[in-house]
Amino acid sequence: WIFVNRSLALGKIRCFGFDMDYTLAAYKSPAYETLAFELLLEHLVCIGYPHEILRYTYDPGFPTRGLVFDALYGNLLKVDAYGNVLLGVHGLAFLSEAEIWSYYPSKFIQRADLQRFHTLNTLFNLPETYLYACLVDFFSGCSRYTNCDTGYQHGNLFMSFRSLLQDVTDAMNSVHQSGCLKQKTLENLEKYVEKDARIPVLLGKMKEVGKVFLATNSSYNYTDAIMTYLFGGGGARPWRSYFDLIVVDTQKPRFFAEGTVLRQVNTDSGKLRVGTYTGPHQHCAVYSGGSSDVVCELLGVRGKDILYIGDHIFGDIVKSKKRQGWRTCLVVPELSWELGIWAREKEREEELKRLDTRLLAEVSWGGLSTHGCICPLQMPHELAVEQERASLDATSCPLSCGQRVSGWEAARLCSLQRATGLWLRS
Ligand SMILES: [Mg+2]
Repeated sequence: WIFVNRSLALGKIRCFGFDMDYTLAAYKSPAYETLAFELLLEHLVCIGYPHEILRYTYDPGFPTRGLVFDALYGNLLKVDAYGNVLLGVHGLAFLSEAEIWSYYPSKFIQRADLQRFHTLNTLFNLPETYLYACLVDFFSGCSRYTNCDTGYQHGNLFMSFRSLLQDVTDAMNSVHQSGCLKQKTLENLEKYVEKDARIPVLLGKMKEVGKVFLATNSSYNYTDAIMTYLFGGGGARPWRSYFDLIVVDTQKPRFFAEGTVLRQVNTDSGKLRVGTYTGPHQHCAVYSGGSSDVVCELLGVRGKDILYIGDHIFGDIVKSKKRQGWRTCLVVPELSWELGIWAREKEREEELKRLDTRLLAEVSWGGLSTHGCICPLQMPHELAVEQERASLDATSCPLSCGQRVSGWEAARLCSLQRATGLWLRS
């Protein structure tokens, strides 16, 4: 499925750019998240967290991308684009409507308060998201710790939710930067990376009509191993021959602004050559760092000529679009799953909207009596709406622990339910 926000003449695209992780290289779920989750737990135990947290196992049905961790109260929140809180959990328990109102006046948060609200917006963040829920669940239920509003008291130590955020963030950096996650991935590529035979075909066709480049934040050695696997390895055409330009260690989103020093990579040793590269573009050469301006310069293209394809809404898409005017394509693997839900629930949503409209019409025309005075509202369709809500409650009410999977996913449906409820009560 391709959703188009703005029409794009593909014939005018002269250059196709790709991110690697979660774009060309899709990591297998839940195997990859499970691995990352276990490494995070091990790291936390190493720095002094209780061994009991190792009993948690990754539940792929719980986290969803885009949740916000509140470092003040330890809640995970589902928030819309305007800052309205749709759903929340404390540990593994969903917050009631009343609890959300008490934590967040007007059910609203200032998303821009980055000191307090930590947005988990990439697929790499899924294990981290579940980890926040597990840690809060553990400390909340552990008799050695006293529950406080903003954390836990243990003897003369206070563990705030903010310190928990710091520890998990440090654990994430350690697991990703120390190389242990990458190393374990490379040791078993078939287990952790999707191999799609259509990728070489697609890139081969793109290269026939334009230039193709790779811009990834990963290092050369890791990129080389992953791409060799994806493009067949062995006697197959070398993966580098599919690209006009390969840039690793790009440090996006910085890459789309001032960038970093451009260096050439020695593809035999994987080491960087000392000094900034100033020569002309060499076909199949690999560069490290640089910036989006350098890419345009080396390939001889303008921003508008480029269609850049990536999975990170901020690092890949927003910055390249807003700072450089590149055309962009966001890869959202969850969409196929969400479309299934949309297709399944579409008729019921339509029915709710139809009942809403009829109800509104009744309120508008039936609220005044023939004598011109206000009468108690008559609800001729109340029964039908209540029946509809009851059937929805039975199948998709998310606020029970047993149905966590549907919890986040059914948020939109529930909002609609609540909206209908408000109509009925008002
Ligand atoms: Mg990526």
